[in-house]
Amino acid sequence: MITRMSSLFLRTLREDPADAEVPSHKLLVRAGYVRRVAPGGYSWLPLGLKVLRNIEAVVREEMDAFGAQEIQFPALLPKEPYEATNRWEEYGPNIFRLKDRKGADYLLGPTHEELFTLTVKGEYSSYKDYPVTLYQIQTKYRDEARPRAGILRGREFLMKDSYSFDLTDEGLSKSYQDHRDAYIRIFDRLGLEYVVVSATSGAMGGSASEEFLAVAETGEDTFVRSTESGYAANVEAVTTPVPAEQSIDDKPAAQVHHTPNTPTIETLVDFLNANTDRKFTAADTLKNVLVKLKQPGKDWELLAVAVPGDREVDFKRLEAAMEPAEVAMVDEADFAKNSFLVKGYIGPGAIQANGIRFLADPRVVKGTAWVTGADKADHHVVDLVAGRDFTPDGVIDVAEVREGDPSPDGKGVLVAARGIEIGHIFQLGRKYADAFSLDALGPDSKPVRITMGSYGVGVSRLVAAIAEQSHDDRGLIWPRNVAPADIHVVIAGKDETLVQAGEDFAKHLSAKGFKVLLDDRKASPGVKFADAELVGIPTILVIGRGLQNGVVEVKDRKSGDRVEVPVAEAVDHLVQLVRG
Ligand code: ATP
Ligand code: MG
Repeated sequence: MITRMSSLFLRTLREDPADAEVPSHKLLVRAGYVRRVAPGGYSWLPLGLKVLRNIEAVVREEMDAFGAQEIQFPALLPKEPYEATNRWEEYGPNIFRLKDRKGADYLLGPTHEELFTLTVKGEYSSYKDYPVTLYQIQTKYRDEARPRAGILRGREFLMKDSYSFDLTDEGLSKSYQDHRDAYIRIFDRLGLEYVVVSATSGAMGGSASEEFLAVAETGEDTFVRSTESGYAANVEAVTTPVPAEQSIDDKPAAQVHHTPNTPTIETLVDFLNANTDRKFTAADTLKNVLVKLKQPGKDWELLAVAVPGDREVDFKRLEAAMEPAEVAMVDEADFAKNSFLVKGYIGPGAIQANGIRFLADPRVVKGTAWVTGADKADHHVVDLVAGRDFTPDGVIDVAEVREGDPSPDGKGVLVAARGIEIGHIFQLGRKYADAFSLDALGPDSKPVRITMGSYGVGVSRLVAAIAEQSHDDRGLIWPRNVAPADIHVVIAGKDETLVQAGEDFAKHLSAKGFKVLLDDRKASPGVKFADAELVGIPTILVIGRGLQNGVVEVKDRKSGDRVEVPVAEAVDHLVQLVRG
């Protein structure tokens, strides 16, 4: 296949697009792979679509290889199945909802558990039918609160989603493992650097769940690893080790102190250290953070979250812990409405006395003594003891996780890095089978409730994730398996012999089965070289001045290495190089 730059629907840009922050977004737009249509909505131009299709092909091959079967649902779906599982409500504003001309409610599918469950129920009835795994590679819609970084977080995006249906828990474990193995093969073939981390269950509700994160500074997910064990988890899924309870008998009584001008933890600790004969640190204080919570179908309510004063509340951990509820910061109006909340001096007392749900960090175990707000301006209470002076309504593990924190498995300490979620595997259990009474008739003629898994790969996001890992300041650098062409042939000059040689090379390479991008434009060599670097085909064949001495140049996009090769050997050289 020869793609000619002279007629290719491609206009590269010299400048970064104004709305782009991350490298993949800038480069995919500049190199003419995608164009923005709406917030979180992008069109794929010819080169971009080739990369997308290459990735899709790898995903499809590996899914088919372990026996998953491809089907396809509409993206436009009726409301009823999603009402049956409560997700019509739970998904909240993230669902695109619409009405047809008769007034019936529809949605654009954000994920398809309901439809797959109903479809299997429609076709299968006997235990002999199971297990089965079905998948689709299909456009998904989510009205994301923060569409970001071009195709990295779109509101319309391509996902491979699959669903396994098993009779037993052991069967589900195997289906899960099959997916895990397939994902490892997929991401290896795509040349990605990634980690597999434990994940929160999120809105799905269920048990075992892992995420595949492509390691990238620009990623939205933070994950931690232990320095001494195989422990790795999304920061949203980290559980804080609970310290041992302490005796309350030997604790001094709580005392209210006048602590003028101490609305922050830092000012408070400084004041106490200057004015008492004890030594306090921020970790001895309890910070009571007010947020707002909206359960699906309910009104906003206040929630108080108590964390040790040396840590912030991690909003992403909070969101994950509260799913499917929405969470928001409180504003001045909320403080004005609830005058018992004395900003900077909020304590458990006023919170609980006024019926606000009060959840505390796992470190707030019985017998621990805290410095916290006394619900009065310029006053704090010292030695407020958990289980004696206050009892939280529950535990919430949403304080920030920091490097150096002990690993939850007791081995080593945590180090952190950032990643892009490219895949998610998830043991759903019987939630959806229960919602739709999906049973198989067992050998004894008794019904057996089916157990399910759900598994996603962000196919369009992968284009950006790969670009994020594989580029330099001049452009994209595609791994061979996903590149839109195998070899970029650049005719570096207008001379008729150069043009002819370029055409001949393109023909020969194409005959060998290579996808060739031929730069046969009338542009200057400088423009062509710059575009070749921007577009990012891994191997570049330059037909230039050397031709009169019988040589052409083969350039490796990634290393920048160039070798001169005699014309007669060039095709064999390239076959060697590309096919390895
Ligand atoms: P995220 O935490 O990034 O919002 P998610 O956990 O909501 O993702 P899943 O429901 O697990 O996503 O979807 C499966 C896969 O689809 C994800 O692992 C991700 O690769 C991809 N994906 C999810 N949302 C988007 C999006 N808005 N744009 C592009 N890809 C997405
Ligand atoms: Mg996920």
